[in-house]
Amino acid sequence: ENCSKIMGIPVPKITMTDTIEVISKVVTERKSELFHVVTLNPEITMSCQHDQQLRSIIDEAGLLTADGIGIVMVYRLKGNPLPERVTGCDLLIKMLETANQNKWSFYLLGADEPTSIKASEVITRSYPNVSVLGRHHGFFNKVEEAQIIEEIQALSPDVLVVALGAPAAERLIYKYKNKLNARVAIGVGGSLDIIAG
Ligand code: UDP
Repeated sequence: ENCSKIMGIPVPKITMTDTIEVISKVVTERKSELFHVVTLNPEITMSCQHDQQLRSIIDEAGLLTADGIGIVMVYRLKGNPLPERVTGCDLLIKMLETANQNKWSFYLLGADEPTSIKASEVITRSYPNVSVLGRHHGFFNKVEEAQIIEEIQALSPDVLVVALGAPAAERLIYKYKNKLNARVAIGVGGSLDIIAG
């Protein structure tokens, strides 16, 4: 079996390398449908049990990865281990490395304003072939939210990174999946804070 369920959620048995391959294929194929990558942690897994909307988000995601160490441990306990943990932060770094080789474009949404600016600078400096088409901090109201979505739509990035914390990022991606005009969208928690140092 190449996939096993944890609390009803099927997590595929894929490595970081496999994950990057899947994402690269999606970016290269340039399909109009947004590919939502969800890095699964115990909070999302638990909330899914009583939150039908979150459940739909997980069910409809293009790819799930085992972000939380708890997820990896449960699989190990069940005697059905996952090949490795694929955290949002590690995955984002690998995506940026791949993006640098292939000249992908990004939009960075989330974190506070200084962190957003710094993360954008660090990425641009470290990965010169990556274009950060736009960025916005993650503390916005409904009116601003609509403007941000319009901006992303107009810029049409290869990758939309949403650092709002889980499951806020996943909900936003799901809500606007038909409007975002990006190839791949991923919620990454505090990864921009880590990149910004
Ligand atoms: N954040 C945000 N807007 C909010 C709340 C949080 O942009 O309204 C950002 C926060 O600045 C941080 C990230 O979302 O960069 C949350 O990271 P955390 O590690 O808490 O996320 P989790 O790992 O729980 O998904």
